[in-house]
Amino acid sequence: MSLTPLTETQASIQQLARGFAADEIAPHAGRWDRESCFPVSVAHRMGALGFLGMLIPEQYDGLGLDTLSYLLALEEIAAADASAAVLMSVHNSLPTQMLLNFGSEAQRQRYLKPMARGESIGAFALSEPEAGSDASSLRCQATRDGDDWILTGTKSWVTSGTFADVILVMARTDLPDARRGSKGISAFVVTPDLPGFHVGKKEDKMGLRASPTVQLDFDGMRVPGANLLGDEGQGFVYAMRSLDNGRLGIAAQAIGIARSALQHSLSYAAERKQFGVPIKEFQAIQFKLADMGARIASARALLHATAAAKDRGESVTMYGSMCKLLASETAMFAATEAVQIFGGYGYVKEYPVEKLFRDAKITEIYEGTSEIQRIVIARELYSA
Ligand SMILES: Cc1cc2nc3c(=O)[nH]c(=O)nc-3n(C[C@H](O)[C@H](O)[C@H](O)COP(=O)(O)OP(=O)(O)OC[C@H]3O[C@@H](n4cnc5c(N)ncnc54)[C@H](O)[C@@H]3O)c2cc1C
Repeated sequence: MSLTPLTETQASIQQLARGFAADEIAPHAGRWDRESCFPVSVAHRMGALGFLGMLIPEQYDGLGLDTLSYLLALEEIAAADASAAVLMSVHNSLPTQMLLNFGSEAQRQRYLKPMARGESIGAFALSEPEAGSDASSLRCQATRDGDDWILTGTKSWVTSGTFADVILVMARTDLPDARRGSKGISAFVVTPDLPGFHVGKKEDKMGLRASPTVQLDFDGMRVPGANLLGDEGQGFVYAMRSLDNGRLGIAAQAIGIARSALQHSLSYAAERKQFGVPIKEFQAIQFKLADMGARIASARALLHATAAAKDRGESVTMYGSMCKLLASETAMFAATEAVQIFGGYGYVKEYPVEKLFRDAKITEIYEGTSEIQRIVIARELYSA
């Protein structure tokens, strides 16, 4: 289904991910969704196969693969379960990339290596109850105390927050009255054993129900000075640069969801008979299938071209936003059409497309809403 010619390595990574997804994710995804739980053992199994260190160089125990290999694997996992895919996307794109690109050698040895092996799971804590799209207005405060930092505040919507071992937290390090906007924000490497770390409310979500999304509360949490990432005041820049990569991951997740919606629709439309013929004989149904296929192919082609541009060292800020926008709207479109093709059976939990419909929506919201992606794209078009 992919137009992109794959190398032998890329094709074998794709096959490995497809097999793992079919054997160890797809059979359980419905139950995880119903029970709102994702077994950490599955995350560790993903790690053992290398899926949590795909973009990390071998010297830090990763696989050192190219971006396309990673996105191919992510699409396979997402087609089986969007919750498993978001864990993989956040871990590979955000905390590990921040440590790799901006962390000290000591931080890479201590935190990045076990994350690359999948023994430690990573999370990314930028959003707050009052700071979503306008993330630079965040209020979580870090104050110096000798060599340490004292962190106070609340982070919201932290993916994998119940079981994450390493969390990259963005907090203000300017004085409360200075409020230097994004320039007063630093990034910290935080572990749940630090005194004052609390896992708060777990969100009861529409979709992506197996992925634990939680609030984290820092009550005067003492963070060693050595856990400041990179330079003081640069945390927002580090987070934004990492989100450029993160958006490619979410695009792959969205394409996986859309592809699954199309596959289920093709099978159902061939089996379901009305007026004496399979419903795939009706042109109205064929047009839906054709539109789904065309949109998926274009979103995937743009994503694969952007992955290659990233690996050539080019800036992918604009194309990354285009990928995320196009793929997430394709996922929502495909899941909506799938429900329609299934008719009443699309509306009940016994059939798979109802879950896809619920899971697809989040791809238009997190790591920058569709409105924010359009703002980024328009800004970049003017600055090109
Ligand atoms: C399941 C889930 C997992 C998440 N995981 C993480 C995570 O791991 N780490 C993390 O830090 N965050 C995470 N998030 C947070 C997510 O990134 C934010 O929800 C998202 O950025 C939007 O912020 P908000 O929800 O506060 O919405 P708001 O920013 O309040 O936006 C509300 C509406 O206003 C629109 N809007 C806002 N500003 C503008 C503007 N300037 N122009 C036009 N329209 C605008 C938005 O597009 C949206 O439609 C997660 C969220 C969810 C739901």
